[in-house]
Amino acid sequence: MPENELQALAARLRAFAAERGWERTDSAKNLAIAVMVEAGELLEHFQWLTTEESGRLAPEKRSQVEQEMADVLIFLVRLADTLGVDLLAAADAKIAINARKYPAEKARGRAVKYDEL
Ligand SMILES: [Mg+2]
Repeated sequence: MPENELQALAARLRAFAAERGWERTDSAKNLAIAVMVEAGELLEHFQWLTTEESGRLAPEKRSQVEQEMADVLIFLVRLADTLGVDLLAAADAKIAINARKYPAEKARGRAVKYDEL
């Protein structure tokens, strides 16, 4: 089976961790925590901005946001690699679940939870 981009990224990150002897600390638990820590760092850039300001970041701020988004992806891909999860397949499966929970004809234009549709 050909390797997809996320699997290739996972292999690069695995090598990066191995070169630094980080496999011991890169447990699923620690990686799950790291995802949330990095998501918090990402969120911090948006704290106190108006909705409008959040959509037009200054170049330096945008670069910082980009780096935090990369951190989130990196730790999520490492977590998936550690647990043997195919992220693209998992995302496709979740989209299918969401499509059943939120039929377009019922959910269009409505921002409510599926059990309130
Ligand atoms: Mg970070």
